[in-house]
Amino acid sequence: MAAFSQVYPQLDIESLVRASQAQTTDAAVRRILARGRASTLAEFAALLSPAAAPHLETLCRLSQAITRKFFGKTIRLFAPIYLSNECVNICTYCGFSRNNPIPRITLPVEQVVREVGLLARQGFRSLLIVAGEHPKYVSNGYVEEVIRRCLPLMPSIALELGPLETPDYRPMVAAGAEGLAVYQETYHRPTYEQLHTAGPKKHYLWRMDTPERAYAAGFRRLGIGALYGLYDWRYEAISVAAHALHLLRHCWKAQINISLPRMRPAAGGFQPEHPMADRELVQTIAALRLLLPHCGIVLSTREPPALRDGLVPLGVTTMSAGSSTEPGGYSHAFDESNWTPHEDQPGEQFHIADERSPAEVAAMIRRHGYEPVWKDFDQSLVTPALFGRASQPAASTLATPTG
Ligand code: SF4
Repeated sequence: MAAFSQVYPQLDIESLVRASQAQTTDAAVRRILARGRASTLAEFAALLSPAAAPHLETLCRLSQAITRKFFGKTIRLFAPIYLSNECVNICTYCGFSRNNPIPRITLPVEQVVREVGLLARQGFRSLLIVAGEHPKYVSNGYVEEVIRRCLPLMPSIALELGPLETPDYRPMVAAGAEGLAVYQETYHRPTYEQLHTAGPKKHYLWRMDTPERAYAAGFRRLGIGALYGLYDWRYEAISVAAHALHLLRHCWKAQINISLPRMRPAAGGFQPEHPMADRELVQTIAALRLLLPHCGIVLSTREPPALRDGLVPLGVTTMSAGSSTEPGGYSHAFDESNWTPHEDQPGEQFHIADERSPAEVAAMIRRHGYEPVWKDFDQSLVTPALFGRASQPAASTLATPTG
């Protein structure tokens, strides 16, 4: 079975982008919309075209109907927790890049558990564990210990770490993590090589096959995406769609989720050369839904409140809320009486745009007639060996806000 890194170079993404930009006709877009589904990458590219832009309302209506059919009127909520800003890579757009002169910190396990306790009190039962890329996280069992200690509070745990080999992932799955997210950042190889100048992240093809290595280790929720702003948004969206189609065929037991992060200001002052407009983001989300009706679509707090509110009924299935992108940041946000600023503050990876509390985001979702879902996964449903965890403090015993 060919890995995506072998398949992708044979896809002529440039031609699809050119056809989307210059050759798609109004009649071709209308034909796809009349059918209500995109069946091929070429049709997906047509839905991203300038010719499809005047049909955005129809596209969104179709996206809404398909999303409701397969996901109901629900939005799954999760919180990221940043374990560390130590990183061996230079990514020119990232605040944690190793050449940025910021204080570096890796949270002790006890502090992680305290932070996760704060998130649990806010209502979260779904956690995304994030860290920069550093060998010390994987060599000493730190990540596994964090997973094990957080699991009683957060039944659903996903990871966003530097790519690893399959055997390195297995202990993390055994510890209880069920999801893995890894974004290619940009699928455009020359741009990738220009932006990732040092560290293991330089290996474009190795990163590309990470979801498949994670699947082989047992992860059953795979997240992919591009960081919009680094290269042409149509090129990235078509590449992400191709990657998702490949994973649906080859990792068929996994739920595939697609994130659409756009560049935000960060330490280092990187300015994106290819900004993606709000309207283009909406068009991409709706087009993805017409091609990939079963894939989750994730929207983070990188996006401003008004845009996030508008996107709730249009195809998004999962949102973060009340996020901090700074290791130890929740203690500052939720526990201000216990914290005073100091000059060794590690700082954020990037600054979020939606600063509302989780309860405010949940209330907004309800105002749209949707149900915020704090927990839709339980280890015991899929892993009989983990039934024994029932004797640990149950997450459900913690208060869940209703706001
Ligand atoms: S994007 Fe990730 S790998 Fe790159 S510098 Fe930032 S934390 Fe490190």
